[in-house]
Amino acid sequence: MASLFNVYPLYDIEPVRAQGSYLWDANGTRYLDLYGGHAVISVGHTHPRYVQALTDQLHKISFYSNSVQIPQQQELADKLGTLSGHPDYALFLCSSGAEANENALKLASFHTGRTKVVAFTKSFHGRTAGAVAVTDNPSIVAPINYKEHVTFLPYNDPEAARTGISPDTCAVIVEGIQGVGGIQVATDDFLKALRQRCDETGAVLILDGVQCGYGRSGKFFSHQFSGIEADIISMAKGMGNGFPIGGILISPKFKASYGLLGTTFGGNHLACTAGIAVLDIMRDEGLLENATRMGNYLMDGIRQVGGYKELRGRGLMIGIEYDFPVDELRKTLLFGHKQFTGVAGKSTIRLLPSLAIGTDEADQFLEALQRVLHLQHA
Ligand code: PLP
Repeated sequence: MASLFNVYPLYDIEPVRAQGSYLWDANGTRYLDLYGGHAVISVGHTHPRYVQALTDQLHKISFYSNSVQIPQQQELADKLGTLSGHPDYALFLCSSGAEANENALKLASFHTGRTKVVAFTKSFHGRTAGAVAVTDNPSIVAPINYKEHVTFLPYNDPEAARTGISPDTCAVIVEGIQGVGGIQVATDDFLKALRQRCDETGAVLILDGVQCGYGRSGKFFSHQFSGIEADIISMAKGMGNGFPIGGILISPKFKASYGLLGTTFGGNHLACTAGIAVLDIMRDEGLLENATRMGNYLMDGIRQVGGYKELRGRGLMIGIEYDFPVDELRKTLLFGHKQFTGVAGKSTIRLLPSLAIGTDEADQFLEALQRVLHLQHA
């Protein structure tokens, strides 16, 4: 029997069913999902509209190559352009966040004819060779030395950005809110300095919205709080609510040509259907507003519970840093209180719930957090 290549440490939990913000395991035990499988579950597990749309599409056609008309691609681009406030940007579709960033970097290099990239400390952009090269995380190693093209500047340091981005810089890639790096929110000054310096040098500004994008922050893309425009925005995760889909939104200054980019699965019928359903649900159920409202609700509650070193984030992308390793806290939440949370580094709990989460679910978390922290200090 072939074995699985064992790269993921796994909990002994097998979810067999899910709905909204809940999962059930094979024994019928219910879990509250405050992590959404790394920010993927945007509109809630098995949303009826989403399930219906995918089921209907499956009965029609699930796939053909990018050599034929697939009108769902245009519908997705139109709806995404409208909801995200980028109706003049073009959409290239792929299947994951790393692939989106690869395409963003390639496009930047084609456009500028340059190869040097600026990235930032504690960044995470994915696991493909190019994406890992612009990632600054000691546990993730770049196998091929693309890193020789990359300079890492300190995150949230406008001055370093002004000197570190030069006329031979091809692209600057940055997360509007660092996810894996610990839920660090980019300051307005930092993002404005990046925009200004990219304008001065001709470098392409890539905003990685794979984790912080798609409504999670309360705006469609978190950098929109700073009033800057990106040249390319990468996205994935919440885009398909579990169906693998990614993409880049590309400013009109880039010109497409046949063969410039490509991928077999990008923009297939099912992926587009999932993407369209997500956007329709986000729009009709006001999920950006809910992300703001519920993000504030959770943050207020976490403040009241107290006991943390620093609380960071925006909307439903929340990091609670403690002055102790959070392994045990997280395990107690999971096994004692049946609640899934995430982690960033050793001491930060990372919350990335569905954008449709309600006060009932938030209260369950706050109550459990209060109890666990109280017991820890009793
Ligand atoms: N960029 C960011 C900011 C991410 O958080 C991630 C995944 O966690 C990626 C890129 C990579 O996405 P994927 O795992 O879909 O390749």
